[in-house]
Amino acid sequence: MSLVVESTDHEQVVFCRDRASGLQAIIAIYSTALGPALGGTRFYPYESEHEALTDVLRLSRAMAYKAACAGLDLGGGKAVIIGDPSEVKGEALLRAYGRFVESLHGRYYTACDVGTYPEDMDIIARESRYVTGRTRAHGGAGDSSVLTALGVYHAMRAAAQHTRGTASLRGMRVGVAGAGKVGRKLVKHLLSEQASVVVADISKAAAEHLRNRHPEVELEDPEKLLSRDLDIYAPCALGGVLNEQTVSALRAQIVCGGANNQLAHDSIDQVLNDRGILYLPDYTVNAGGLIQVADEIRGFNHERARARVNKIFDTSLKIMTTATDTGTTPAHAAGLLAEQRIAEVGRLRSVWLSNPASNGHAHAQV
Ligand code: NAD
Repeated sequence: MSLVVESTDHEQVVFCRDRASGLQAIIAIYSTALGPALGGTRFYPYESEHEALTDVLRLSRAMAYKAACAGLDLGGGKAVIIGDPSEVKGEALLRAYGRFVESLHGRYYTACDVGTYPEDMDIIARESRYVTGRTRAHGGAGDSSVLTALGVYHAMRAAAQHTRGTASLRGMRVGVAGAGKVGRKLVKHLLSEQASVVVADISKAAAEHLRNRHPEVELEDPEKLLSRDLDIYAPCALGGVLNEQTVSALRAQIVCGGANNQLAHDSIDQVLNDRGILYLPDYTVNAGGLIQVADEIRGFNHERARARVNKIFDTSLKIMTTATDTGTTPAHAAGLLAEQRIAEVGRLRSVWLSNPASNGHAHAQV
């Protein structure tokens, strides 16, 4: 087990246990060079602690890159709670978890992820100040999928600009895999630009709900969507969807979607590139949700958050231009951009200021 941690560059990994409530959690902080680490809490029935540790280490690193690319003064962290939320989630467990979050004194801010919801954040916030993604009734910003979908739409416009010389999506054929919170809102943006939209969802009810609202949308089977004649393929469901097999079936020239961790493994980026498919890294494309929960820390201002999400267009364009100029992939260019910002801005903290709070990051400046 120790080998897993030794082989990474994480600043801090905390194992949390409260036997009475059944809490078993791991909080991983990849970096606080840019500010406090922010990342959601995944509540999932992992097979083993080792599997949970591997996941939290990988996810917390991606959060650091996401925050750095989005221009936020935030580091990257993530937490996992081991267990089936439908069986073990309860007030005592969430509050016990909140006390561990609080014990880190703001080095880590938590938020929602798979298996946790704004109502859970409200409970955790009864024990900790370092919680975001709460309900509106408790001072939170509400559903983050609105700004996530807006960011995906801007990234697609940037991809169109880069490949066709115009940011308009008019007439482009976009396949959206997943008609959930993000997918549904993305479809609305696409239709408003007169793109033609094909949607697939494993839930017939979700797909039909969408088509009832937007009769112009075409529905497709999830396994057939990949091989449709598309301009853009937008994964908006689960992670790991891009592997050797799916990439060989893919006919779209651009992959740009809201799902987290779309690549089954890092080398799929090169496989996509070898096939001439432009892949925009998921953490750049779907940063809208992070921008929203980060803004909530200051007291949510929709216009401010929206303005920052609009910048995903510029960031995406910069990443694609850098990739073309340097003969690499956008994912590789995005990783370099993130690491450069973490190193350059993080270095400024070595400049001593007389106000002790300014030598660290007492507050997230987002
Ligand atoms: P959601 O649960 O509301 O929707 C997911 C949809 O995908 C569901 O309708 C489900 O039936 C469908 N689905 C599952 N497997 C599928 C498959 N194989 N093919 C087609 N459809 C399938 O989730 P969401 O909030 O819309 O999030 C979607 C993705 O975006 C996730 O990967 C999530 O991590 C990521 N994301 C979400 C946000 C946010 O603010 N909600 C922010 C960043 C990233």
